[in-house]
Amino acid sequence: MTELDLNRPDMAALGRQAVDMLADWLDTLEKSPASDYSPPDGLAERLRRPPAAGPGHFGELAETFLRAAGQGVNTAGPGYLAYFPAGGLYSAALAELLANAANRYTGLAQMSPALVAMEHGVLTWLCGQFGLPPGAGGVTTSGGSTATLSAVLAARQSRLGDDLSGATLYVTGHTHHCVAKAARICGLPAAAVREVPMTDDLRMDVRAAAGLIAADRAKGLRPFLLAGTAGTTGTGTIDPLPEAADLAAREGLWFHVDAAYGGGFQLTERGRPLLTGMERADSIALDPHKSMFLPYGTGVLLVRDPATLHAAHADGGDYLQDLAAMDGLPDFANLGVELTREFRGLRLWLPLHLHGVDAFTRELEEKLDLAAVVHRELAADPRFSVPWRPDLTVVVFRLRDGDDERNRRLLQEINDGGQIYLSSTNVQGRLYLRLCVLSFRTHARHVDRALEIIRAAADVC
Ligand SMILES: *Cc1c(COP(=O)(O)O)cnc(C)c1O
Repeated sequence: MTELDLNRPDMAALGRQAVDMLADWLDTLEKSPASDYSPPDGLAERLRRPPAAGPGHFGELAETFLRAAGQGVNTAGPGYLAYFPAGGLYSAALAELLANAANRYTGLAQMSPALVAMEHGVLTWLCGQFGLPPGAGGVTTSGGSTATLSAVLAARQSRLGDDLSGATLYVTGHTHHCVAKAARICGLPAAAVREVPMTDDLRMDVRAAAGLIAADRAKGLRPFLLAGTAGTTGTGTIDPLPEAADLAAREGLWFHVDAAYGGGFQLTERGRPLLTGMERADSIALDPHKSMFLPYGTGVLLVRDPATLHAAHADGGDYLQDLAAMDGLPDFANLGVELTREFRGLRLWLPLHLHGVDAFTRELEEKLDLAAVVHRELAADPRFSVPWRPDLTVVVFRLRDGDDERNRRLLQEINDGGQIYLSSTNVQGRLYLRLCVLSFRTHARHVDRALEIIRAAADVC
């Protein structure tokens, strides 16, 4: 055994110490500030200290990490209601420990057929949840942005081949910027990204999209992709997916649905009808690190026809000549941008099997209920303007009287209190505060407290 190869007693001792320290730290989340920028004594120096030639002390090193993790915005805590909270399931962290210590290679199936089957099983199950046909598949990614990149690349390859001239794709002003970024990485100029107007309820105006596509065709341009969003980042709004699917089919466009946030709600009875139309997508981007409570770095791309992903990504080299494709198992390296990849499959598989799917469903239903409470309570308070009923769990609101500056002060006042953390966005040219209930640690008592804090802040702004 070398110094790097721990013996069994050390493995057990360090593991126990790590778990104990972590459990204590997680216990403090409820009471920890929602954001903390106070300079902690001596931490800055410890963070930047170069590694010594000799061994360090595990307890001290882990302590440094936990103190560092307490700085900034407490994204794991129950008061985190900004952007997209997920929490980060402990069971997924255990899955990481197992997967990383085993360190099997899952980019090419022959290297690890059973683990690839495990990950493939989860992806196939997800395809089924969304009503994609048998034979559909996908790949896990680092998140929604990289899932979208592979989707746009597959769409480009499928609809345009190597000739990118005049290519255009269609988004709205509320489409996540990762679609335009993906287009840019795929070699398309900024002008290729065409912005479709939205209706007053913040959804894609599909008739306007049809008009824009027809006008572009008349100019000799080559429309190839329509991107609908199932839960926009700003307001959580779901585009009219069936109408968008019709339009894409009529025009021969690739239909991508960005369900990075909203996709998880397919597991709920209330969410499913709202997400109808996704079963007609060519590609679906999901972020289990949002609506499935998994740790950051967990994205999924599902595609109707994995051959399209393969055509866009597959490559090889003499150094890979010993590895043959295996019947019925995907070579994930040929479906995405990574050759060497972490095994994300267990991070999905273990929590789903350990807790059971119903636990996820119930958790998401609770979030839908809590967002409805927030909407109802704020809408009942005459001081607030709350124009859009949430489709899912994002509520946007602003003070009825006052300009953006006053609303910015309101946000500041709320966040300065340190118990909750909200963000803001702009809708129809005005600043709105934005509250998203999504963490598995956020429950009714936290939402009640958030409402109290918001009301009290409005009194003094
Ligand atoms: C978060 C989000 C993305 C980007 O996903 P990352 O995981 O942050 O890369 C894309 N689309 C939507 C709708 C999102 O909410």
